[in-house]
Amino acid sequence: MKIKLTVQPGTTDQVKTGHWREIHYPIIDHEKCIGCDLCAKICPEGICFPTSKKNSQGKIFYENDLDYCKGCSLCAEICPVKCITMKEEFK
Ligand code: SF4
Ligand code: SF4
Repeated sequence: MKIKLTVQPGTTDQVKTGHWREIHYPIIDHEKCIGCDLCAKICPEGICFPTSKKNSQGKIFYENDLDYCKGCSLCAEICPVKCITMKEEFK
């Protein structure tokens, strides 16, 4: 029997979580964001991205698409200025 244990990269749009994720989700404080891109680099779902807006520091700040977020917290762990907070999700 043949079992496939890996998936094609870049298929996140096929695995929308909807209301499912770990019980925490990331909130980005746009004012503190320095636009370093580390969250985008580490996010396993590839859902952190730069916006076209700047904060009061003149930095382009980042956002994430929570429809595809798994709540893994990697973005919050790596953020050098700790501007990502994991909030508990109540359903
Ligand atoms: S919690 Fe995980 S999946 Fe969600 S945006 Fe952060 S790194 Fe990506
Ligand atoms: S890791 Fe933090 S500071 Fe860097 S782009 Fe992401 S949210 Fe902004």
